[in-house]
Amino acid sequence: MDLGLGGRAAIVGGASKGIGRAIALGLAREGCRVALAARGRQALDEAARAIAEETGVQVLAVPCDMARYDDIRRLVAEAVAAFGRLDIVVANAGGPPAGLFEELGEEAWQRAIDQNLLSAVRLVREALPHLKRSGSGRIVAITSAAVKQPRDYLVLSNTARLGVVGLAKTLSRELAAYNITVNTVCPGNIATERLMFLLEERARRTGRTLEQVVSEEESRIPLGYLGEAEDVANLVLFLCSDKARYITGTTIQVDGGSTVSVF
Ligand code: NAD
Repeated sequence: MDLGLGGRAAIVGGASKGIGRAIALGLAREGCRVALAARGRQALDEAARAIAEETGVQVLAVPCDMARYDDIRRLVAEAVAAFGRLDIVVANAGGPPAGLFEELGEEAWQRAIDQNLLSAVRLVREALPHLKRSGSGRIVAITSAAVKQPRDYLVLSNTARLGVVGLAKTLSRELAAYNITVNTVCPGNIATERLMFLLEERARRTGRTLEQVVSEEESRIPLGYLGEAEDVANLVLFLCSDKARYITGTTIQVDGGSTVSVF
């Protein structure tokens, strides 16, 4: 299927590893120019080089902490300067730390709100004039299946990400007049560094092995296995394409069927 993304330009947050990197690679494979954002220069440069080598498209690496507004301003400015346009933004960053409410102080809350809620607000604010000019702008926010079914021990994620869903739904209505679509994608258990870190933490906390915790997790997934970053990326690519022109305001999980709620 030709997704019609050739020649377009995108920004992907949290793109040196995991889901963000798979999205950036997928977009580039479709001929879309991509600006990758992440904090650490080394992993970011390595990801950008690998994607450019494989796809031959223009790839930009912009060191950026998605929790910092100044960095997001610079990210958008550098992407637009390099590509001359901006059609797609994927709001993504690392997840907040795990923990019970009583274990997490003001600083952790502020960081989670900056990184996982205000990052989306700020990215959209800075990108909006360019997305309006695109004529078929696309905004995709990566959150978590926790927005449909909160996860124990992840109060920061459960809370900050619901704000993103409210933002995206509202924007889908406000920005429809500019032919900009806005959707939220919710990963379930996707075998990236983030998930393995959380599962290792749970194994330590409960005195079990990582293998035991992984197989416990898999037993809760109707399809019976952990997803791959590419499983999430495939949905994002489709949502960014012309084929998805009539899909906006949705909140879709990619979770092997593990979310029990109907919607
Ligand atoms: P990951 O840790 O494997 O990769 C995160 C990427 O974001 C890395 O490139 C990292 O360098 C970058 N990053 C982290 N903090 C950043 C910041 N402040 N600014 C810029 N870049 C930053 O994570 P992942 O598994 O790919 O997850 C992506 C998002 O999806 C996270 O928010 C995560 O919490 C969420 N999520 C993941 C899963 C899963 O199973 N993997 C499930 C639910 C939700």
